[in-house]
Amino acid sequence: MAEEAEESGGRPTDGCGTVNRGARIEMSEKRWWLIAVAALLAVLMLAGSIGLAVSVGLAAAVGAGILGHRFYRARRPKKGPTVYCLGCGKILPSTARQCKFCGSASWSMKN
Ligand SMILES: [Zn+2]
Repeated sequence: MAEEAEESGGRPTDGCGTVNRGARIEMSEKRWWLIAVAALLAVLMLAGSIGLAVSVGLAAAVGAGILGHRFYRARRPKKGPTVYCLGCGKILPSTARQCKFCGSASWSMKN
Protein backbone atom coordinates (compact mmCIF):
# COMPACT_ATOMS: atom_id res chain seq x y z
CA MET A 1 0.00 0.00 0.00
CA ALA A 2 2.56 2.55 1.13
CA GLU A 3 5.01 1.53 -1.57
CA GLU A 4 2.42 2.06 -4.36
CA ALA A 5 1.64 5.60 -3.22
CA GLU A 6 5.34 6.48 -3.09
CA GLU A 7 5.94 5.13 -6.58
CA SER A 8 3.18 7.17 -8.28
CA GLY A 9 3.98 10.34 -6.34
CA GLY A 10 7.69 10.33 -7.00
CA ARG A 11 7.43 10.26 -10.79
CA PRO A 12 9.26 13.16 -12.42
CA THR A 13 7.21 15.37 -14.75
CA ASP A 14 8.53 16.45 -18.13
CA GLY A 15 7.21 19.05 -20.59
CA CYS A 16 6.61 16.57 -23.38
CA GLY A 17 3.15 17.89 -24.29
CA THR A 18 4.18 21.52 -24.61
CA VAL A 19 7.18 20.60 -26.76
CA ASN A 20 4.94 18.69 -29.15
CA ARG A 21 2.50 21.59 -29.45
CA GLY A 22 5.31 24.04 -30.22
CA ALA A 23 6.69 21.79 -32.95
CA ARG A 24 3.27 21.54 -34.56
CA ILE A 25 2.86 25.34 -34.73
CA GLU A 26 6.31 25.65 -36.26
CA MET A 27 5.37 23.07 -38.91
CA SER A 28 2.26 24.95 -40.04
CA GLU A 29 4.17 28.23 -40.12
CA LYS A 30 6.80 26.60 -42.32
CA ARG A 31 4.08 25.39 -44.65
CA TRP A 32 2.66 28.92 -44.99
CA TRP A 33 6.14 30.22 -45.77
CA LEU A 34 6.50 27.57 -48.47
CA ILE A 35 3.17 28.58 -50.02
CA ALA A 36 4.10 32.27 -49.88
CA VAL A 37 7.49 31.65 -51.51
CA ALA A 38 5.89 29.45 -54.18
CA ALA A 39 3.33 32.18 -54.94
CA LEU A 40 6.08 34.80 -55.12
CA LEU A 41 8.08 32.61 -57.52
CA ALA A 42 4.98 32.08 -59.66
CA VAL A 43 4.39 35.84 -59.83
CA LEU A 44 8.05 36.44 -60.74
CA MET A 45 7.88 33.81 -63.51
CA LEU A 46 4.69 35.41 -64.81
CA ALA A 47 6.39 38.80 -64.68
CA GLY A 48 9.24 37.46 -66.82
CA SER A 49 6.95 35.97 -69.45
CA ILE A 50 4.07 38.43 -69.78
CA GLY A 51 5.40 41.58 -68.15
CA LEU A 52 5.45 42.99 -64.64
CA ALA A 53 2.48 45.35 -64.95
CA VAL A 54 0.19 42.67 -66.38
CA SER A 55 1.12 40.05 -63.76
CA VAL A 56 0.76 42.50 -60.87
CA GLY A 57 -2.61 43.57 -62.23
CA LEU A 58 -3.64 39.93 -62.60
CA ALA A 59 -2.60 39.12 -59.03
CA ALA A 60 -4.45 42.18 -57.75
CA ALA A 61 -7.55 41.22 -59.72
CA VAL A 62 -7.49 37.66 -58.37
CA GLY A 63 -7.00 38.94 -54.81
CA ALA A 64 -9.79 41.48 -55.18
CA GLY A 65 -12.04 38.82 -56.69
CA ILE A 66 -11.47 36.44 -53.79
CA LEU A 67 -11.99 39.20 -51.23
CA GLY A 68 -15.08 40.49 -53.00
CA HIS A 69 -16.55 37.01 -53.26
CA ARG A 70 -15.95 36.38 -49.55
CA PHE A 71 -17.46 39.75 -48.65
CA TYR A 72 -20.48 39.09 -50.84
CA ARG A 73 -21.02 35.61 -49.39
CA ALA A 74 -20.63 36.93 -45.84
CA ARG A 75 -23.22 39.67 -46.34
CA ARG A 76 -25.73 37.55 -48.28
CA PRO A 77 -25.67 34.03 -46.82
CA LYS A 78 -27.77 32.16 -49.36
CA LYS A 79 -31.12 33.86 -49.53
CA GLY A 80 -32.02 34.32 -53.19
CA PRO A 81 -35.13 35.73 -54.84
CA THR A 82 -38.45 34.11 -54.08
CA VAL A 83 -39.62 31.43 -56.51
CA TYR A 84 -43.34 31.16 -57.08
CA CYS A 85 -45.53 28.97 -59.20
CA LEU A 86 -47.15 30.48 -62.31
CA GLY A 87 -49.97 27.93 -62.14
CA CYS A 88 -51.27 28.42 -58.60
CA GLY A 89 -49.08 31.23 -57.23
CA LYS A 90 -47.67 29.26 -54.29
CA ILE A 91 -44.18 30.06 -52.99
CA LEU A 92 -41.74 27.26 -53.87
CA PRO A 93 -38.31 26.38 -52.50
CA SER A 94 -35.52 27.79 -54.70
CA THR A 95 -34.33 24.26 -55.56
CA ALA A 96 -37.75 23.05 -56.72
CA ARG A 97 -38.03 22.08 -60.39
CA GLN A 98 -41.79 22.00 -60.47
CA CYS A 99 -44.67 22.97 -58.25
CA LYS A 100 -45.46 20.42 -55.58
CA PHE A 101 -48.99 21.73 -55.19
CA CYS A 102 -50.31 21.72 -58.76
CA GLY A 103 -47.47 19.97 -60.61
CA SER A 104 -46.87 22.84 -63.00
CA ALA A 105 -43.30 23.10 -64.30
CA SER A 106 -43.61 26.83 -64.98
CA TRP A 107 -42.40 29.18 -62.26
CA SER A 108 -41.02 32.67 -61.93
CA MET A 109 -38.90 34.71 -59.52
CA LYS A 110 -39.47 37.89 -57.60
CA ASN A 111 -37.35 39.71 -55.07
ZN1 LIG B 1 -48.44 25.41 -58.54
